[in-house]
Amino acid sequence: MKPAPFVYFAPQTVDEVMDLLRQYGDDAKVLAGGQSFIPTMSFRLAQPEVVIDLNGVEGLAGLREVDNGLHIGTMCRQRTVERSPLVARRAPLLAETMPSIAHPQIRNRGTFGGSLAHADPASELPAVVSVLNGRFRIRRQRGEDWVAADDFFISLFETAVGPEDLLLEVEIPDLAPGSGWAFQEFSRRQGDFALVGVAVVLELEGHVCRQARLALLSVGEGPVRAHLGEAALEGQPMGASLLQRVAEIVAHQDIDPPADIHASKDYRRHLAEVLTRRTLSQAVARAAAD
Ligand SMILES: Cc1cc2nc3c(=O)[nH]c(=O)nc-3n(C[C@H](O)[C@H](O)[C@H](O)COP(=O)(O)OP(=O)(O)OC[C@H]3O[C@@H](n4cnc5c(N)ncnc54)[C@H](O)[C@@H]3O)c2cc1C
Repeated sequence: MKPAPFVYFAPQTVDEVMDLLRQYGDDAKVLAGGQSFIPTMSFRLAQPEVVIDLNGVEGLAGLREVDNGLHIGTMCRQRTVERSPLVARRAPLLAETMPSIAHPQIRNRGTFGGSLAHADPASELPAVVSVLNGRFRIRRQRGEDWVAADDFFISLFETAVGPEDLLLEVEIPDLAPGSGWAFQEFSRRQGDFALVGVAVVLELEGHVCRQARLALLSVGEGPVRAHLGEAALEGQPMGASLLQRVAEIVAHQDIDPPADIHASKDYRRHLAEVLTRRTLSQAVARAAAD
């Protein structure tokens, strides 16, 4: 199908975008890489009267080092993040995750911020940015806000970015010394949306876990933090039996996955248990090698 008719604007500055968003409010949508938005318009699931194209807007696509980590502009292409030596050095979990997102052609157009603002529960980046303790810089009609990942993802396809707001960039802080990290997912074919995925960051002191952050994708209405699993890890010495117990807690207590045509609830629980155990083992090994 073809999209319903709409009025197209191609602003060049953030101020112009904000003026258009104020003027058209709920009737307008911004266009980033278009890899999710254009299909939803073509299926007429979205019928905005006004489309505001961000592709010509200055200053939204940067990727730079700051004292405590990285700032990634919302329009930075996913492929740029994937190939960046800066990202590989300062945010290796992110670098490891990027190839799991869709296909290279989609990552060439799809943007870092577009994926996060879209907040598809099957997307990798919301879960990974959550465990990395990312922060989101949002331009509001009155000023700007920095929002923590825990407060950014609200519900199904809903974030702290309101209809008249614009996501500007994302801060990815450095990992604490002694951290281990891992991401794994299972999909039927390379490039498909995953049936389940798990991202983890562990801060260890010797063999003992000081802090754990664990999040899953494709098991709820957004990235799902595994708070019970995290609590079971913290303060404990790492060992195979603990990791197995935590994997069971995550799969059977932290999540209540949906059943759909792709997988049953039980199968998603099984994947969550296996992937949690594997990512935890990998993260412990990486922390020990640090
Ligand atoms: C075949 C296929 C397979 C895919 N597989 C995966 C996958 O495995 N994993 C995955 O994560 N994704 C997957 N995707 C989605 C892809 O990663 C998209 O690029 C991404 O979800 C959206 O990014 P975008 O830049 O294309 O945003 P767009 O599609 O342009 O926008 C998406 C939404 O976010 C809003 N938005 C965008 N930028 C901003 C901003 N700065 N401020 C406020 N709102 C904003 C838009 O208004 C729109 O509502 C797939 C897509 C396709 C077509």
